[in-house]
Amino acid sequence: MQARRPESAGSGKAAAKRSGKRSAKKCPICGKPATEASRPFCSERCRDVDLNRWLSGSYSIPGRKEEDDDGE
Ligand SMILES: [Zn+2]
Repeated sequence: MQARRPESAGSGKAAAKRSGKRSAKKCPICGKPATEASRPFCSERCRDVDLNRWLSGSYSIPGRKEEDDDGE
């Protein structure tokens, strides 16, 4: 089951706010400006992505169980 999450972040093209005062930290995953809630990422999703990436680099790939069903 793959449910595509509708990204409700469709307001970043036309809205060109020029503040230049905020720390311009970008999300290392997608490059969007990070939010305080999920910094240094832009969202928890990206944080999750990074975490997964990190884990997959250190441990085995998550989400893959090495369980064979036919064990008889
Ligand atoms: Zn991001």
